[in-house]
Order: sequence, then C-alpha cells, then structure tokens
Amino acid sequence: MKSPLRKVGLLIVVVIILPVLVFSAFEIGSYRQNENVIQEIYRNQLDAILYSINQYSDDVMGNLASRIENTLNSGNPGSEEKVEQLLTEMQAATCMMVFDSDRSFVSVVPDTEATVSLSPVVTEAVEGQREEIIRLRTYLRGGYRKIITLPLSNDSLQAMAFLTRVNEAEQYNVILIHPEKYIRLVLGPKMQQVAGGKFEISVYRSGSLKPVYTSSNQGDTVQGTIRKPFWLLGGYEMGIELKDKTITDLSRERMRRSLWFVGVMDLLLLFGAGLIFRNIRQQVELTQLKSDFISNVSHEIRTPLALISMYVETLEMERVKDKNKIKEYYTVILNETARLSAMVNRILSFSQIEGKKRKFVMGHTDLNEVAEATLRTFTYTLENKGFRFSLEPTDLLPMVQADREAVADALVNLIDNAMKYSGDQKDITVRSGITGNFAWLEVEDRGIGISEKDQKHIFDKFYRVTEKNLANRVKGSGLGLSIVKHIMEAHAGNITVKSSPGAGSAFRLHFPVNGKKK
Ligand code: ADP
Repeated sequence: MKSPLRKVGLLIVVVIILPVLVFSAFEIGSYRQNENVIQEIYRNQLDAILYSINQYSDDVMGNLASRIENTLNSGNPGSEEKVEQLLTEMQAATCMMVFDSDRSFVSVVPDTEATVSLSPVVTEAVEGQREEIIRLRTYLRGGYRKIITLPLSNDSLQAMAFLTRVNEAEQYNVILIHPEKYIRLVLGPKMQQVAGGKFEISVYRSGSLKPVYTSSNQGDTVQGTIRKPFWLLGGYEMGIELKDKTITDLSRERMRRSLWFVGVMDLLLLFGAGLIFRNIRQQVELTQLKSDFISNVSHEIRTPLALISMYVETLEMERVKDKNKIKEYYTVILNETARLSAMVNRILSFSQIEGKKRKFVMGHTDLNEVAEATLRTFTYTLENKGFRFSLEPTDLLPMVQADREAVADALVNLIDNAMKYSGDQKDITVRSGITGNFAWLEVEDRGIGISEKDQKHIFDKFYRVTEKNLANRVKGSGLGLSIVKHIMEAHAGNITVKSSPGAGSAFRLHFPVNGKKK
C-alpha cells in the first residue's frame, strides 16, 4: 500500500507543488520588474506635471509680451500707461526696460526714481546678450516669440527678456519681476490646480531643502523626489511628490500586498494538495480493506461449505453406523450452516445500510428483555465453548424508543466478537444501566483487548486489526461494528468502547431515554 501512495505523493509534488513554487518565484521576480516599470511611469507622469507648469509660465509671459507689443503698435496715445497697467495686472512685475537693437537703454515703464536706479544693473546684463538677441530674432522671424531669463547681479529680482517689433523697429524688452511673488501669485493657482488633492508641489531655492512655496500651504511637506528647474526663473526649482506617501512607499506597499497574496495562495494550494493526498490515501486504504474483505469472506464461506459437503458426502455413503457419530455430523452441518447464514445476513445487512435501505421500526422497547433473549440464544454455543457468562440488568431501566430487531442484531454482533476475541479468559458479562439521559447495554469480555490506535478505526467499514496477524487467525469481515455503529446512529444514540490490550474490552450501546437526542 505504501508504494502507490508514494507514487501519488510524488505526482502531487511534481504536478502541483513544484509548478506552483516555480510560478510563485517567477511571479515575485516579475512583480519587482513591474514595480520598476510602474515607478518609471509614475516619474514620467510627475515630470509631465512639472513640465506643464513651466509651459504655463511660458504662456503667461508670452501672452504678456504679445499684449505689450500690440499695445505699443496700436499708436494710441497713452500706450505707455497701458503697458504699465498690463505690468500691474501681472502682480509680480516691477517694471519693463526697453533697449534698442544695439542693446542701448531706451526707456523704463513706469519711469520712477526706483526703476531708473535699476537700469545700470539691467544694462550691464543686456550688454552680454548679443548672441542671444540674434537667436531670439531668428525665432521671431519664424513666428515664435521666445522669452529668456537674463542673469542679473541683483538676485532679489529676475529679468525676463523678449524681442518685439514696434513700428518696424526691433525692441529688446526686459521685465523685472519679484520671483517669489511670481511663484505665489502667478504660478501658485496653477500649481494648486494641477496638484489637486493628490500631489504636493513645492518650490525651493536651488540646493535648499526648505520650500519657499507649497501647493497645499503646509510647511511639513514631503521632500519632492522629482525636482526640475524653472525655465524662466533662475535659481529656483519645483519638486513634486504624492501627498502623504512617497512613490517608493507606495511601491513597497503594493509589493508587500502582492507578496502576501502569493504567500496566501501558495499556502492554500499546499493545503489543498495535502487534502487531495489525504483523500487519495483514504481511498487507497479503503480499496485495500475491500480486497482484504473479499478474501476474508471467500475464506469464511469456503470453509463451512467444504465441511458441510464433506460430512454430507460421508452420511450419504452411509459409511458411519454409530448413531452418536451420525448425530455429531448433523450438529457440525447445522453449526456450519448457521455460520454461513450469519455471514450472509451480515453482508446483506451491511449492503442495506450502505444503500440506505434499512428501515427501522421504532417502538417501546425494554432493553433488559432484549439483552436477556439475545443471551439466551447464545447459551448453547457459549456453554459448548467453555465460556462463563452472566447478565447483570439494572432494574430501574426505563423503556426506550428502539427497533427491537436492530438492537438484538447489535447485541449479537458484540457477543459474537466477545467470543471471537477472547483468549483463555472466557468470561462474558452483559449488563444494562442508565447514565444521564441515556440507557445503555454493555458487553464485556476479558479477551485480547484493542490498542488505543485501533480503537479509533474499528467502527470503520472493513477495518480489522491486523496486528500480530490477528485478522488471519480469527475469521471476520470487518463489517460487524460498522453495522452496530449505524444502528446506534439510527437510534440517535452511539457506541463507545473501553479496552486495553490483554485485559479485555467493554462495548456500550447508549440509547436516549426521551426520544430523539436533539
Ligand atoms: P470482524 O468481522 O473482523 O470481527 P468487526 O467490525 O466486528 O469485524 O470488528 C472490527 C475489529 O475490531 C475486529 O477485527 C477486531 O480486531 C476488533 N474487535 C472487535 N470486537 C473486539 C473485542 N471484543 N475484543 C477485541 N477486539 C475486537
């Protein structure tokens, strides 16, 4: 029986467990790869958000530049005031300085003492812009007005420069702005809009960890893992991160969840494989028991048949003349016939139970009376085999609802076993009693007893104790106790056994006194 089981075990390992483990290892590996790809996609998405803010900043300034150019080209009186108004609307601008195509200072709007005082710094910056201006000119001819940042020695202000054509003359304009006002008032609303509730966008001075602006206006921001410089603001950077959690946190969390999932699935699968193995083992054991059963039963039927035919043949030939001998032969034939019919009855009873065809006719039953009548039928056999036996009934036993025939069947099985499994100590007691709500009948012997391990299985169909080859020495089918157990279940009762090897066994049938148990 071991070898087919080993094969099944190996098969389960090769067909289920190994593939699952390999698949899990592969899955875990690909989770890691996927996580990297997802992180990459996340980063690109965050990059794109920062890009859109830079784009927005470019659009704002480009728009302003176009409106300024249009205003100046309109030729309307008061166009300078209009430009001044446009600058004021932008909120972060201080003034706009105008240079001609030779980079010479022309004017400043608004023309105040404060703004004029800034002109040397800006003029100095514009001086070095020859190449840049040529580049901007090429762009402008191509229909694109590019805004650039001028490096200023005064770092509290930023200079954004662009070319315009005013009345056919080229003009180089430099708008001075307060960078942090620009960030807060011009870009802030846009940052808040794109950040939504999900992201945190912060602005830092380059190299600093402390933000000068955050989209959620909270100081305790997460450090942006992605940082990008502003196209139009020198010395400032934007950072973006998911709110509350970093991408790495998120990725780790998902990874952990995936690992848990794989782990739980693997455990479930292993558990399932274990169950399958157990089931197959039970089936293999049952098949083995069935084949033992067939060989036992064949043996049990063949022996009495051989004896019967031998004695009948002898009697038929009339070789035996002695009357006593003849009587003895008849007795043997009768006994063997009884054994055969008991065997056949047992198999029939079992097949009825298996097919759920056995009907129980319940009625008021006196257990003492059934015990006494059953023991009486055994008197001759017991005495013949040298057994001491006694009945110890309890007088106060109440009547129970039971099928009298079935209870007698159960007792016959127990007394039969007590006889079969008694060694030299041939002593059988049948007694009755009451414990709690249960009346009971007990058959006790001083026979070979049953080990604790076997006690768990003796009520299973076909099970026989094979220890010390007992099953081969004592005839049986392995059906008796499973029939008794079934009968007791039909009575809402049960059967228990107390036994120790070498000392004997006591089987007890418990019947509920007040009808059904539940
Ligand atoms: P069997 O036809 O083998 O007697 P049973 O179902 O009646 O089948 O019993 C199952 C097994 O339980 C027996 O093979 C035997 O090993 C054990 N057994 C039953 N009754 C006794 C008993 N009174 N003493 C010792 N062993 C017993």
